[in-house]
Amino acid sequence: MRTLVIDHPLVAHKLTALRDVASDTATFRSLTAELVTLLAYEATRDLRVQPVSVTTPLGVARGVKLARPVPLIVPVLRAGIGMLDGMTRLLPMADVGFVGLRRDEESLIAETYADRLPTDLTDRDTFVLDPMLATGGTLVTVINMLVTRGAASVTAVCLLAAPEGLHRVEEAFAGSGGSTAEVRVVTAAVDERLNERGYIVPGLGDAGDRLFGKI
Ligand code: URA
Repeated sequence: MRTLVIDHPLVAHKLTALRDVASDTATFRSLTAELVTLLAYEATRDLRVQPVSVTTPLGVARGVKLARPVPLIVPVLRAGIGMLDGMTRLLPMADVGFVGLRRDEESLIAETYADRLPTDLTDRDTFVLDPMLATGGTLVTVINMLVTRGAASVTAVCLLAAPEGLHRVEEAFAGSGGSTAEVRVVTAAVDERLNERGYIVPGLGDAGDRLFGKI
C-alpha cells in the first residue's frame, strides 16, 4: 500500500480555501471539483496504456491509448458524489459504480447500505472517491469489496486524511492484503488527528454537509 501526499502550490491553495469556514456551498463544490482534478492527475499516473499510431496532418505519430477494460470510478455516497465531476473531467471514458456506507455516530462503525458495483473487476483499475479518510473503516470496507472482485488496482482519492485512518488502511493492506491488487491513497494533506467524534482536526468539517447541506 502506497500513500501519496500531493505537494503542489495549487493543491495547497485550494485546500486552504476549502477548509475556510466562510466558504459557502457553491464555492465549496467548485473548489472540490478543481482539487479532485489536480489529485486525479497524480492518481492516474500508473494507468495502463497500449501503443497506437495516429495520423497527424503531417504524418504518422506513435502514441498510446488507455488499455481496456476502462477504469471504474467509485464515489462513496454521499460526499464522494461531490468529487465525481472533478474525476470524470480527466477520465470521461470511465465507468462509474456506487457504494453507500453509513457511519454509526456512536460506534463509528461503517455499515453498507448500497452496492452498485460490477461483480467482476478483473484487470480493472479502480478509483474510490471519499473526501475524508477519517477512521479508515469506510475505506477498508470499500477497498475490500473491490479487491475481492478482482480489481487490478485500487486508488483512493481523498481530500484530507487523518494519521489514524491512514494507519488503519496501511495495516489492512500492507503488501496489498495478500491480493495482487495495488492499493494506494492519494490525498492533498494529512492532518493532526481525529477528535472524539471521529472528525478530522483541523480538517474542514463535515464534507457531505458542506457539499450538499445538512439533512
Ligand atoms: N467525515 C467528514 O465529513 N469530516 C470529517 O472530519 C470526518 C469524517
